[in-house]
Amino acid sequence: MSMSTLPTTRTTPVVLPGTRAALWLFGTVALCLAAYYFIGVDQGATSVFGNSMYIHEFVHDARHFLGFPCH
Ligand SMILES: [Zn+2]
Repeated sequence: MSMSTLPTTRTTPVVLPGTRAALWLFGTVALCLAAYYFIGVDQGATSVFGNSMYIHEFVHDARHFLGFPCH
């Protein structure tokens, strides 16, 4: 009869203070909204860089891959 031993190591959760957690959440949401805007919305006359297609051309393949309407 063999006995197996269970691992005795325990993981500890990461505990962040409330303000740091709020800053991480705000930064993550801001980064995601910027990525969403530049990939999905920024185009032509509504571009933040004026009436140019630079950003659109740069993210064009990602735009098609993610299913945003394009042309
Ligand atoms: Zn396209």
